[in-house]
Amino acid sequence: MSNELAILYEVQRADTELARLREALAGLDTGDELARQVEEAEEELTRLSAEHRATEKEATDRDLELKALEEKKARFESQLYGGTVQNPRQLTDLQDEVAMLSREISKIEDRILELMETLENERSATQTAEAGLRELQERLGSVRAQHETTGSRLQQEIAELEEERKARASEVGAQLLKRYERIRARQGNLGLVKLTGATCPGCRITLPSDTVKGLKAGRQDLTCENCGRLLYWEQEGD
Ligand SMILES: [Zn+2]
Repeated sequence: MSNELAILYEVQRADTELARLREALAGLDTGDELARQVEEAEEELTRLSAEHRATEKEATDRDLELKALEEKKARFESQLYGGTVQNPRQLTDLQDEVAMLSREISKIEDRILELMETLENERSATQTAEAGLRELQERLGSVRAQHETTGSRLQQEIAELEEERKARASEVGAQLLKRYERIRARQGNLGLVKLTGATCPGCRITLPSDTVKGLKAGRQDLTCENCGRLLYWEQEGD
């Protein structure tokens, strides 16, 4: 029978690689954070256009108001300068009315100018928000595509490696496999280490020379006295 530990070492390599692949899969950007940002940007855009509509409505209202006041003022002025009113008291009243209307008209004109400026600012804010939203949507699209392709590639690799691992593990004696699994569960996914010198690759301790000698002589039942991991020494023909 070939060296069981050599086969178990293949199992360990598969387990290490599987852990790496699973971690990579779990660490993939799902795009959830970007999707949240897209949603926020959409809400902001909705808010901006509601604001813009309100400003447009006020501008329309103010225009109508201005027109009505101008008409009223024109009426008073025609009375004032038309020669039909002679009474000085009435003329003074008309003058006061015209002056008051002029002040109101001037206030509304100022407000309309303000509104024009606000509308312009709102249009530019909307354009910026739209561009930002488009950029986020594009990024989200590419992150999701990346997640999809990389994710399925990783899943494929994991599935293949799991099969391979299963096949290899079936060639290892049940007892040894169980022991390996026990140590691996305790020792951070590393149940067996391949020695190339006198240092345990698992815990970096220097192993007793008897252990190293035993390993080199082909013993397969040795473990690191510090971390308890199974020790494997590659033999000729392994
Ligand atoms: Zn060790």
